[in-house]
Amino acid sequence: MSAQGLTPERREKVQALVLFGPPGSGKGTQAKLLMQCLGIPQISTGDMLRENIQADSPLGREVSGIMRAGALVPDEMVNALVEQRLASPDCARGFILDGYPRTRQQAGALHNWLMKRNIDELVIHLVVDYNSLITRLTGRRQCPQCGTLYNLISRPPKQGEICDKDGTKLVIREDDSAPVIKERLAAYDRQTQPLIAYFREEGRRLLALDANDVRPQELLEEICRAIREDARGS
Ligand code: ADP
Repeated sequence: MSAQGLTPERREKVQALVLFGPPGSGKGTQAKLLMQCLGIPQISTGDMLRENIQADSPLGREVSGIMRAGALVPDEMVNALVEQRLASPDCARGFILDGYPRTRQQAGALHNWLMKRNIDELVIHLVVDYNSLITRLTGRRQCPQCGTLYNLISRPPKQGEICDKDGTKLVIREDDSAPVIKERLAAYDRQTQPLIAYFREEGRRLLALDANDVRPQELLEEICRAIREDARGS
C-alpha cells in the first residue's frame, strides 16, 4: 500500500509518533514526509531551539553555546518547549516528534503528559551504521534562504554547492563540523541510545527499521506499513 493509503481511521490509535535515532539517521526528512502524508505536525526540538537562537530570545541565548558544542540542552528547557508546543490546536489529532525525547527524563515527562491525555505513543527507531552517519552528516548542506536540505553524496545539488531552487550558496550547519559531529554522536550514545532498553522495559511500542541503504520515499513507505501493522496488532 502507498504511504497515502493510511486512512484516518487506520491511524486513529497512533497519535504521538516518536521518530527516534542518532543524528543523521533521517528523522527530520522522514518527519517532513510523514507530516505531508498524515496531515499532522512535525515537532522538531532542534528546529525550535534554532528558531529561538535566530530570534535571539532569552532561551536562544542560553542554548546557543550548548548546541554549538554538540551537547544536549537541559531537560527542563526542552520539556517546557515541547509541552507548550503540544498544547497548540494543530496537535489535537496527533503529531510527529523529531529529536525528542533524547534522555530518560524527557521520555518520562513525555509519557506522563501523554498518559494524562490518553494519547497513544509509538516509537519508530531508525537504525543506521556509525560510518554512514559520519558520511551523511559531513556531506549535509542547507540553503540559508529557503531551508532546502542537500547531501553532497546522496542528494547533491545540480550545480556545485548552489541551491537548485533559488541559486543561493549552500551552507554547513554550525554543528555539522567534524569535531561537533563526533560530540553529537557521543551524546547520542551516552544519553539517548540507552532509551531503547528503557522503552523495552517500560513496554513502550517500539518499531526498529533499517534506514541504512534506503531512499527516503522507500523508508516512508516502510514506516507507514509498520504503523499500519502496529495499529492492527495493538
Ligand atoms: P540532530 O538529530 O542531527 O543532532 P537536531 O536538530 O535534532 O539534530 O538537534 C540539534 C541540537 O539541538 C542537538 O545537538 C542538541 O544540542 C539540541 N537538541 C535538540 N533536541 C534536543 C532534546 N530533545 N534534548 C536536548 N537537546 C536537544
